[in-house]
Amino acid sequence: MHNHSTLSDGLLSPTELIELAARTGVTAIALTDHDTTDGLAEADSAARHAGVTFVPGVEISVSWGDTTLHVVGLQVDPESKSLKDGLDAIRIGRHGRAERIAAALAKLGHEGTFEGAWALAENKAMLGRTHFARHLTETGAVKDIQAAFDKYLAKGKPAYVSHRWASLEEALRWITESGGTPVLAHPGRYKLKPMMRDEMLADFKRLGGQGIEVVTGSHRPEEYSHWQRIALEHGFLASRGADYHGRGESPAEPGTLPQLHSSLTPVWSHWAH
Ligand code: AMP
Ligand code: MN
Ligand code: MN
Ligand code: MN
Repeated sequence: MHNHSTLSDGLLSPTELIELAARTGVTAIALTDHDTTDGLAEADSAARHAGVTFVPGVEISVSWGDTTLHVVGLQVDPESKSLKDGLDAIRIGRHGRAERIAAALAKLGHEGTFEGAWALAENKAMLGRTHFARHLTETGAVKDIQAAFDKYLAKGKPAYVSHRWASLEEALRWITESGGTPVLAHPGRYKLKPMMRDEMLADFKRLGGQGIEVVTGSHRPEEYSHWQRIALEHGFLASRGADYHGRGESPAEPGTLPQLHSSLTPVWSHWAH
């Protein structure tokens, strides 16, 4: 229930992603590109062709105070005006942000990274940190994508540029108005202390959030039981997704992560197919 394509920062086209999933034996898959629904039509048609159930989704970038959260919307209607207009608005800032990231990297001795990242982004409107990380890896400035984030691009590192994304309220409204189910992506990635975490989960729930990811390629396996407990305690549905970006870049291929524990209610349990 969480995968990327070349419409954001994935390495496979929507069709290639669906075909990979079908080959792996996956029976249902979501495409959840960052801040865009532009790949959903292609993925839907590839899924019909491959005999796989397709779940149209999106992963929205959200600013909650100083923390960037990702909220996945599942079963969204890509034609929804509210969702489309909202996503259009948050994409606009990416170009200027990329220029600021490039300027910070130039100060650190890495010239020409805007052009490098730009060349690697198939969808120029979605230029993001992953494209910078890939460029820095290709030029040998770092040994891999993870090192690019750890050394330069992650929050607190010298080429991190803070940015205002959607508010939590907006993101949840756009997803809900498009008929989708809002799911908090990889809650273990935000590094919030328990009190802030509970405040964030309470805000998410109050504003219409319905589920959290428990089993995800962005959690370490030893974190699953923690987020399972949180889902049960806070009354959230649970989701499972690879957060697949491409071979060699993601810990899990689609369809290879463990099942959700039977005590959890999966997000897909309410969907009719
Ligand atoms: P952006 O939306 O441009 O800020 O890029 C966010 C994307 O960068 C995420 O969806 C991940 O694909 C990737 N990313 C963010 N933080 C890390 C990290 N610490 N390590 C590896 N990839 C990361
Ligand atoms: Mn990503
Ligand atoms: Mn994410
Ligand atoms: Mn993701």
